[in-house]
Amino acid sequence: MPEGHTLHRLAAGHRERFGGRLVRASSPQGKFADGAALIDGRPLTAAEAHGKHLFLGFGTHGPDAAPAQWVHIHLGLYGKVGFGTGPAPAPVGQVRLRLTTPDAYADLRGPTTCALLTGGERQLVRARLGPDPLRADSDPEPAWTRISRSRSSVAALLMDQRIIAGIGNIYRAEILFRHGIDPYRAGRDLTRLEWDALWADLGVLMREGVRTGRIDTVRPEHTPEAMGRPPRSDRHGGEVYVYRRAGRACHLCGGEIRTAALVARSLYWCPRCQHGPGPAAAA
Ligand SMILES: [Zn+2]
Repeated sequence: MPEGHTLHRLAAGHRERFGGRLVRASSPQGKFADGAALIDGRPLTAAEAHGKHLFLGFGTHGPDAAPAQWVHIHLGLYGKVGFGTGPAPAPVGQVRLRLTTPDAYADLRGPTTCALLTGGERQLVRARLGPDPLRADSDPEPAWTRISRSRSSVAALLMDQRIIAGIGNIYRAEILFRHGIDPYRAGRDLTRLEWDALWADLGVLMREGVRTGRIDTVRPEHTPEAMGRPPRSDRHGGEVYVYRRAGRACHLCGGEIRTAALVARSLYWCPRCQHGPGPAAAA
């Protein structure tokens, strides 16, 4: 499933191509035909992401008016957006929503959600989501409040979009490794200092993900070049410490990376580097 950085890249991609311009909208597949008809010919006035949700705003009275209608998109496991330049070719496959201008197009395929919302409905969707480390308007405090009171494992809490939005399986595994935190430690045993460091580091890593379009989490001293090791080969790309490295040697300690199912997804961690119940529980 795409993680938050991908949705922020898609928001930027829509702004670059369609921002302030009159956009033709259609649903070649037909499933979003009514919604597309309502925004067809209107200017795209906003495109933004919150966690794994993408919101495209369309105005009615020119490019500077506040969006009157929003398209809410969640890609789910299989959804994808493909951008192209020039006049759009005949649609290929099941295109739910196609946006076009004379010189650019975007095709949305296979989303879990593609729906029209009013401004108020969009606020309701956003209100159900935790703070997103990539949004400048995010307040991490509510996330800390919930995590610091929870008996659930920190690995489960980080994946709960109601607590913190945009973190998927790769960022969760990697951020816990980078901070030496046992994924099974209870949220309430995390210290404030650890949480502050996690939040800040997530922002740094995810902004880098927005910039490059892939997830790289290794520090400069652990890159393939610095360590004289072959680069990772994986369709996800990116240099990581533990994600999908089960059974292989940890870049830091040489111990074996482990994997287990947690909240229906595979968790990866290094038991040697991510040890102990944490200072709060030990006190
Ligand atoms: Zn290790």
